[in-house]
Amino acid sequence: MSECIFCKIAAKEIPATVVFEDEEVLVFMDIGPIMKGHALVIPKKHYDPVTEIPDELLAKLHITAKKIAKAQLNGLGADGVNIMQNNGKASGQEVPHLHVHVIPRFDGDGHHWNWNAKSYNDFDEMSELADRIRHSV
Ligand code: 5GP
Ligand code: ZN
Repeated sequence: MSECIFCKIAAKEIPATVVFEDEEVLVFMDIGPIMKGHALVIPKKHYDPVTEIPDELLAKLHITAKKIAKAQLNGLGADGVNIMQNNGKASGQEVPHLHVHVIPRFDGDGHHWNWNAKSYNDFDEMSELADRIRHSV
């Protein structure tokens, strides 16, 4: 993936502010933070979307995200943490190299997700969607 920006960061071809790395995983600061201290956890090898990565490596990414969340709580004095991961343009993903956002949150920090919860027409509509997911697992 020679044109992938996160592959280039993983290969140290372009700079990033790294906070943690090992053979498989790299963690660096997001250049456009939702909240100051926002970090990204990526596999060094290119995978995208989440359905393509081996389970063990995905587990490792999320264990690393937990480690970073702890560091934001302890080291930055965060009061909470959002851990997020987008897949596909429809989800808002901009960089098509799997990454886990770890975002420190502070009481009264003023950030609000535009959650905008919907409702089902009726119980049957929800139940029918549940059936379709259940039969595809
Ligand atoms: P997505 O919307 O794909 O889930 O998130 C991509 C994230 O990558 C964004 O939060 C954006 O600020 C960050 N980002 C994009 N390009 C770069 C870059 O070159 N360096 C760093 N450090 N972060 C980047
Ligand atoms: Zn890549």
